[in-house]
Amino acid sequence: MKWSFRLFTFSGTEVRVHVTFLLLLLFVASQSFLSGQGLPAAFESTLFITVMFICVVLHEFGHVMAARGYGIRTPDITLLPIGGVARLERMPRKPSEELVVAISGPMVNVIIAAAIYLVFGISAAINPGYDFLITGHFFQKLMVWNVFMVLFNLIPAFPMDGGRVLRSLFAMFMEYGVATRRAASIGQGIAMMVAIYMLLNHKIDPMILLICFFIFMAAGQEAALVTQQEATKNLRVRDAMLTDYRTLAPDATLRDGVALLLAGTQQDFPVLDAHGGMQGMLTRHDLISTLAEKGPGQPVVDVMRPCPASTQPASELTQALEILNASDCTALPVLDPSSGELVGLLTTENVGEALMVRAALMKLRT
Ligand SMILES: [Zn+2]
Repeated sequence: MKWSFRLFTFSGTEVRVHVTFLLLLLFVASQSFLSGQGLPAAFESTLFITVMFICVVLHEFGHVMAARGYGIRTPDITLLPIGGVARLERMPRKPSEELVVAISGPMVNVIIAAAIYLVFGISAAINPGYDFLITGHFFQKLMVWNVFMVLFNLIPAFPMDGGRVLRSLFAMFMEYGVATRRAASIGQGIAMMVAIYMLLNHKIDPMILLICFFIFMAAGQEAALVTQQEATKNLRVRDAMLTDYRTLAPDATLRDGVALLLAGTQQDFPVLDAHGGMQGMLTRHDLISTLAEKGPGQPVVDVMRPCPASTQPASELTQALEILNASDCTALPVLDPSSGELVGLLTTENVGEALMVRAALMKLRT
């Protein structure tokens, strides 16, 4: 995600924080400082926000660990002001597995809240006037926050965990695409109803309105993604890969890269060794930014990305696209399974073209 940077890496998952989240911390600290409560209050509320987000990270790691149980890796988690986003390599397709992965995040918050309750025996007074950010003991507030996280995440709408729970339950009785579209419409319906209710009652909370808008968009995106996956079903990587592409030798310089970039429409260039083996990928972005810093004489091997992920011509296109989306590179190398030689490149543009061709041919047949 742009505008985010790495905090730490834990067992193969990078925890990143978005700049807007740091702005939130700064805002909270300055608010309590300016309200005349002084430095200790500013410190305590900043500490509380930080601990709140540690709970968010633990929640995300609940998903990460459950997914790992099914052999799915999670390259990174990004902290946003609205919560955390874990980017799974792929979503589990078995409804029961998705259900377990979706429910594992909120379960972490249930455990934290229960642990605080057992250790401190706090009876948190949850009444309409209760504002957990202002009143109450530190751990009491933390317990309420965890209970809130469970309830909020179980709202049955994408991208909340509740949306995934709903989809997995539907998918046990119907086709995956239909289940997704149904779950997405329910989420959009809830978001719209809440927004309309607020407008009719003239009680507009800008934060809730923003969340409604966000849910509405995310639900639509999820449905579109699954529709795309359905379109690529039964297609193999070889049906959609780019076979006419240019490559660079390991002793090439950025000058050679620029020549190739300007000569055609290809944006990313594989760097191959003398035997045709994949060494790395020179992306247009890296080429341009390094060119400005170090000049055209720079060897491409110093600039290329390793791009460790690859696929094979006979692999399923849907799976290959998931690998491509999770990787740092814009093109996925397609390697021959026996020789390990590069035989094609998979890019989203090329897949888009392949799908358009397929749709046109299907129209011709009917
Ligand atoms: Zn979650």
